Amino acid sequence: MLTNLLRISTLVPSTYVQMTSVWILVWDAFISFTAHGLVSAIPVPQTSAAWSRAYSVKNMSSETITLTVSCLCKANVHSATIPKSSLPLQAHVCHCDTCRHISGSLYTSLAYWPAPRSTVDLSRYKSYNFSPPFDALFCPTCSAPVWGVFKDEKLPLLVATGALENIACDTEVVKWAPQGFVGDTIDGGASHWLKSINTSGPKLKSFKCSPRGDDAEELPADWPTQPHTSEEKQDTLLIRCKCQGVHFLLHHNDYDGVKNEDLTWNVNPTTRKIKAELCGCDSCRLQGGTDVCYWTYSDMQNISFLSDKGETGFPSDMDGLSALIDEHDPRVGSLKYYRSSPNVCRYFCGTCSATIFYANKKRPHLIDIAVGVLEAKDGARAEGMLWWPFERGIGSKEDANGGWREGVFGRIEKAAVEYGRTRDSSA
Ligand SMILES: [Zn+2]
Ligand SMILES: [Zn+2]
Ligand SMILES: [Zn+2]
Ligand SMILES: [Zn+2]
Repeated sequence: MLTNLLRISTLVPSTYVQMTSVWILVWDAFISFTAHGLVSAIPVPQTSAAWSRAYSVKNMSSETITLTVSCLCKANVHSATIPKSSLPLQAHVCHCDTCRHISGSLYTSLAYWPAPRSTVDLSRYKSYNFSPPFDALFCPTCSAPVWGVFKDEKLPLLVATGALENIACDTEVVKWAPQGFVGDTIDGGASHWLKSINTSGPKLKSFKCSPRGDDAEELPADWPTQPHTSEEKQDTLLIRCKCQGVHFLLHHNDYDGVKNEDLTWNVNPTTRKIKAELCGCDSCRLQGGTDVCYWTYSDMQNISFLSDKGETGFPSDMDGLSALIDEHDPRVGSLKYYRSSPNVCRYFCGTCSATIFYANKKRPHLIDIAVGVLEAKDGARAEGMLWWPFERGIGSKEDANGGWREGVFGRIEKAAVEYGRTRDSSA
C-alpha cells in the first residue's frame, strides 16, 4: 500500500489521502540531492504546514503524549505534545561517509519532529552546512547535533533520535525505514545489527545508496560477501571530522616486548588490535545524537599530530590536551571540549560538531576515540586496527531500562551478538 501511496504522490500534488476517517500523510516524491547521502535518503513531506495538519488538532482529544528532546548540557530542551495515535515518528539511518564523519557514530539517525518549525527556538544552536539545501544545528557548548533543518523553512525539522527522551510508552515511538548508503561502509558498518531495530515489521533492507528512486540498489542480506574480519593490520588511521578541521593520526602499536599480562584491557592479547564497543549510555547518545555510540580505546601515546616528525607531540593526558585547546594551539585545529563532569572531558569539532574523543581522569593515559571519525580503507569498522568483541553487547544499556529505548537496545544487542557468533563460526 505504501508503494501505491508513493506512486499516487508522484502523480497528484495533494499531500494527503483520506483513508476512512484517518488522514494519512503521503510522502512527497523524495528529493534527491546527489552526493549528499543524508538528504537523499529522506523522503520529504511537501510543507511544514501540511505536516502539522497530519497531526490534526481535532485528534487531540484522543490520548496524547509529550516528546522531549535535549542536548547533553541541557542548554537546549524542547517538547511537543501530540496524539499518541500519530506515533511512531518516521526515522531514517544513513551510513554514508559524510554522516559518519559529521557524527563520530557509524551512521546518523534522524526522525521528523512532529511539531511546526515555528514552535521550536533554534536561536541558540550553531549551524553547519551539511549540503546546499540542508544544515545541521548543534549545541555550541556540548556539540549535540540535535536538529537537521532544510533551508526551505516550509519543510519540517528533523531531530536526532538519540536526543529523544527515553519515556515509557506502550506505543512504538520511532520506526526506522530501510537503511541508506550502506555501500559507503565497505564492510557493512553497523547495518548488520540495525536490521532488526524496529518493534514490528520486516527486517530493514540495506541499500547501496539512496533507498528510494528508480536507481535504488538493494544489497543482498549477506553483503558484503567477502570475509568480514580484516586480517591485514593497518598501521595508521586518519582521525578526521567532516569539515577536516580536526586531523590527527592513530598509530597501531604492537607492544613488542610487552607480556600479555601487562597489556591494558583495551589491547587484544592475540592480535594486539584495540578494542571497539557499542555504548548505550545517556551521555553518549545525548552528545552524539545516535541511540548507540561507537568507541575505540587507545593509549594517547599512539596518537600524533599530522605535523609531528618522529616523536609524537600529542599530549599524554586529558589536561594536556585541554590546555592546548585553551591556548589555541594550531595543531588541535577546530577541536573543542565540554567538561561534562570534573573528571570527564568530551572533545568535538567546534565547526562541524563531530564527536572525536572522550577522556576520563580515572584512566589518565587512555582516550576513547569515536569510531565514525576514523578513515580506514578496509571499512567503517576499521577492523585492520580495531577488535570488536560483539558478545559483550551494548555497554551501559541499563540507562535505557524502563523506556521505549530498552526494546530498541535489546533488539540491537541480540543482532550484534548473533552477528559476532556467525562471523566466529565462519572464520
Ligand atoms: Zn549520510
Ligand atoms: Zn548542549
Ligand atoms: Zn569538523
Ligand atoms: Zn557512553
